[in-house]
Amino acid sequence: MAKIAILERKCIGCGLCAGNCPFGAIDMKDGKPELNAACKVCGICVKSCPEKAILKLETKVDSVDKTKWNDILVFAEVSGGQLHPVCLELIGKARELAKNVNYQVKAVLVGSGVSAFAEELCHYGVSEIAVYDDPALSYFRADAYAACVEDYIKYAHPSVVLVGATSLGRSLAPRLSTRFHTGLTADCTKLELRENTDLVQIRPAFGGNIMAQIITTNTRPQFATVRYKVMNAPARGEEATGEILTRKIPKGVGDSKASCVSVEPIPPKKSISDAEILVVGGRGLQKETDLDMIKELAQLLGGDWATTRPLVEKGWNTNDRQIGLSGRTVRPRLIITCGVSGAIQFTACMNGSDHIVAINTDPNAPIFDVAHIAIVGDLYEIVPALIQQLKEAQA
Ligand SMILES: Cc1cc2nc3c(=O)[nH]c(=O)nc-3n(C[C@H](O)[C@H](O)[C@H](O)COP(=O)(O)OP(=O)(O)OC[C@H]3O[C@@H](n4cnc5c(N)ncnc54)[C@H](O)[C@@H]3O)c2cc1C
Repeated sequence: MAKIAILERKCIGCGLCAGNCPFGAIDMKDGKPELNAACKVCGICVKSCPEKAILKLETKVDSVDKTKWNDILVFAEVSGGQLHPVCLELIGKARELAKNVNYQVKAVLVGSGVSAFAEELCHYGVSEIAVYDDPALSYFRADAYAACVEDYIKYAHPSVVLVGATSLGRSLAPRLSTRFHTGLTADCTKLELRENTDLVQIRPAFGGNIMAQIITTNTRPQFATVRYKVMNAPARGEEATGEILTRKIPKGVGDSKASCVSVEPIPPKKSISDAEILVVGGRGLQKETDLDMIKELAQLLGGDWATTRPLVEKGWNTNDRQIGLSGRTVRPRLIITCGVSGAIQFTACMNGSDHIVAINTDPNAPIFDVAHIAIVGDLYEIVPALIQQLKEAQA
């Protein structure tokens, strides 16, 4: 960590530092320079000061003893009486990462009546499953759940904690990282583990224009959330391995400040994230009713339909059918994009699909960089022709 210090007794108030600062981070007040919040500690002011009145000070940051924090912990979410499939995907990724540094993969289950899921997790190569099972944990209350996971983290000292980027996970993970005064990266699309056990958390940043690599260098554990369908779930093993550890509920969990007044189950809704086949319409569609052919093609293929964000912004579709950074991540067996350019904010959330077919009039459209089959042509000719052929084949 570094900071800039201005030595008042040496400063002659020439203003060269303020003039040279590329971030406008120095204000001249009563003939003296003062730093404002825009300072990036670039050090240009240090070099521009003729009186050597500005210093860049390096402050030593205490670093945790990383050897005391080992293994990878996955928060195994149970919601609606089911183990959320994202937790198996996280276990799959954790196992891959763990190999490089000889770590083990552990899981933590929190809830009421969740013990049975621990046995199921034993089939996925987890070495230890900690279970906090109590009627007081029937419904998700962030403080109570966080207290349980915090208790296990304090006991097990995991180096990395992976949480699904679900509604529950997005509420839980920041609470936990704050309790440990450590870093959390949300919605990672890629994870790597360095030999020194630093987790490289990769995710799009600045509107998707760059893929940022974020590391938590001085603290442990390292928290990351990952959306459903971003990683691969491992196959279920025949043999059950791993030890189930029934943990005592931490004191005070029953006195959570949040209470559950009533529970209204949301009727199960089909999600585009679960579709095996998807047909996607983009801004190449000229009017709202043209979406009908996208829906028809999807229906003939036995799949579902979705769109890019501009069509949601036009009000032609709802956000739950939008693919992309601000929509859903999908990973179907087949995806057919029609009139989609292939912006990074879109492709980052569908490029894991098994077969990508792209229809676009522009041969240089970026979507062709991720497509397995590129069809350069007019969607208004190709989509109706596909529909026709499928109808004939079905007849
Ligand atoms: C922070 C942030 C988050 C974002 N999140 C998302 C997100 O979640 N999802 C998302 O989709 N976008 C998102 N965007 C927007 C994204 O950057 C793109 O603007 C968007 O994906 C473009 O959508 P599109 O491909 O439908 O439209 P366009 O980029 O306009 O592409 C239309 C394509 O259709 C082709 N075309 C035109 N006519 C025809 C035809 N007759 N036949 C065949 N092809 C034709 C054109 O050649 C063109 O390539 C986000 C942007 C930001 C900054």
